[in-house]
Amino acid sequence: MIYSDFKGDRLSMLGFGCMRFPLLSDGSIDQEQVNEMVKMARANGLNYFDTAYPYHGGRSELALAEALKDVPRAEYFLADKFPGHQTASTYNPAEVFEHQLRKLRTGYFDYYLLHNVYERSIDVYKDPQWDIIPYFVEQKKLGRIRHLGFSSHGRVETMKAFLDYCKENGYEMEFCQIQLNYVDWTLQDAKAKVDLLNEYGIGIWVMEPIKGGSLKDNVPKAFRFVEGVPGVKMILSGMSALSQMEENLATFENPNPLSEEEMEELMQDAEARKAAIPCTGCRYCCDECPMGLNIPMLIANYNDAKFGNSSTPYQWLDSLPEEQRPDACIGCGACMQMCPQNIEIPDVLAHFAELYEKSVKWDDICRERELTAKRMREEEKDGNLA
Ligand code: SF4
Ligand code: SF4
Repeated sequence: MIYSDFKGDRLSMLGFGCMRFPLLSDGSIDQEQVNEMVKMARANGLNYFDTAYPYHGGRSELALAEALKDVPRAEYFLADKFPGHQTASTYNPAEVFEHQLRKLRTGYFDYYLLHNVYERSIDVYKDPQWDIIPYFVEQKKLGRIRHLGFSSHGRVETMKAFLDYCKENGYEMEFCQIQLNYVDWTLQDAKAKVDLLNEYGIGIWVMEPIKGGSLKDNVPKAFRFVEGVPGVKMILSGMSALSQMEENLATFENPNPLSEEEMEELMQDAEARKAAIPCTGCRYCCDECPMGLNIPMLIANYNDAKFGNSSTPYQWLDSLPEEQRPDACIGCGACMQMCPQNIEIPDVLAHFAELYEKSVKWDDICRERELTAKRMREEEKDGNLA
């Protein structure tokens, strides 16, 4: 395992992001597999576990606590987040924080983040009526938080404004988690964010190193790219299966910087991929959609449809009830307000609906197959088949 040093903590550079745990067929977390994954991770030197209040509808924290229940607390680093980015009638930091400590069966968090400081949440975090930042600064003084930081899907200007606000008010932000991978290096301005954080002397934590799985055909190189970015201390991967854990651990076994040639290839690959829609699957948009559309799934299938040659995305659409298909979008735009990737969601869905309309329908394929099978059965009966 490759390690980094952050203020005396020896952090495994690969961290276990707990937002995509494996699921059972009824949609609940596969606790047994999570336990195995945590066991495998620890046996291979991974020592950092990152969860958040809303992951898996609040069940990620519980599942992680269960998987770590027999592990001495000093043997791992635990990270959790305050959900100030989510709409709430009240932002009671003490209530949430105490609940999180109980759920994780711990007296302190090693790393605690203000979750997604971005254009729509920055004012919540700064609002004196909720007292969010002063409360967590106080918890740090009390030793219940060892390191305080924030995550952000916001624009670089918003991150800078937040850092300046914290500086002016004497609130120390020690680290920041950003979306960083070789495609977002330019697509989401990640390079400018890295430069900003390095300028402010803030540790860089990486999320979405394989862009929500969309770089899954190039995982080792994608990891090796982020490992080489100056200032990066932690790379989080939201692993969903033991096999994925095994592959990722192997990539982090030894340092293996990209050669100049590999870097050039990667940048060319990034250019080619940028034509795709950069949805990370965060699901922030879903709560806002009055039609209840599974927007990230629709976008993932749109990307597949646009850049692959297979009919799979259209078959998937065929399997959906009509009110779940892209043409059910009414174009209200509510989802776009929540999208950290600034995706023009209604336009994407309209285009997907158009492509679907032109595609050969699954029902037609089935009918064709049924006719072929029938013909073959008849031919067999007649003794015409070899
Ligand atoms: S624009 Fe379409 S996808 Fe977005 S919230 Fe409205 S109905 Fe849902
Ligand atoms: S469309 Fe945007 S908000 Fe919705 S899941 Fe994708 S990245 Fe997240």
